[in-house]
Amino acid sequence: MTVLRFLSDGMLGKLARWLRMLGQDVEYYRAADDKKLLELAESEQRVLLTRDSELYQRAVSRGLEPFFVESVDIIENLASLAERFGFELMVDLSVSRCSKCNGLLEVVSKDSVNDKILKATSINYDSFWGCTECGQVYWQGAHWKRILTTLESANSVLNGGKSFT
Ligand SMILES: [Zn+2]
Repeated sequence: MTVLRFLSDGMLGKLARWLRMLGQDVEYYRAADDKKLLELAESEQRVLLTRDSELYQRAVSRGLEPFFVESVDIIENLASLAERFGFELMVDLSVSRCSKCNGLLEVVSKDSVNDKILKATSINYDSFWGCTECGQVYWQGAHWKRILTTLESANSVLNGGKSFT
């Protein structure tokens, strides 16, 4: 799988969380100013994701490789990023990153997370993943279907179809 290094500006938190779930390495700074973002993109060799055309232009003139996030629609954005950078629009939690902190996930036993999840979750699900950095626990819960539907739509946009949202 293709893993890229991204840096997302403070307006793109939702997109950052999606990309992390897809296994991409995404740093996200809510508070960093433009100067700081440009410095980080350069020193850490990350693709700067921004919806700010001025910041985008500054990155280009600095010789960086930024990506201008045109749409406000997550499906369109995922499709254009996948097209531009050639990664798969599918979620495999064994390669996902933590949507909260960008840490790597690892398979964890139900026993080890029982104190962090609801009883109903413990009863209904058997596979769990934990963030190696912040301890956040993930499972393929009720929201999983929505995630797959969104990715299906993004894949169909990528393959020339229309977004139905
Ligand atoms: Zn985490």
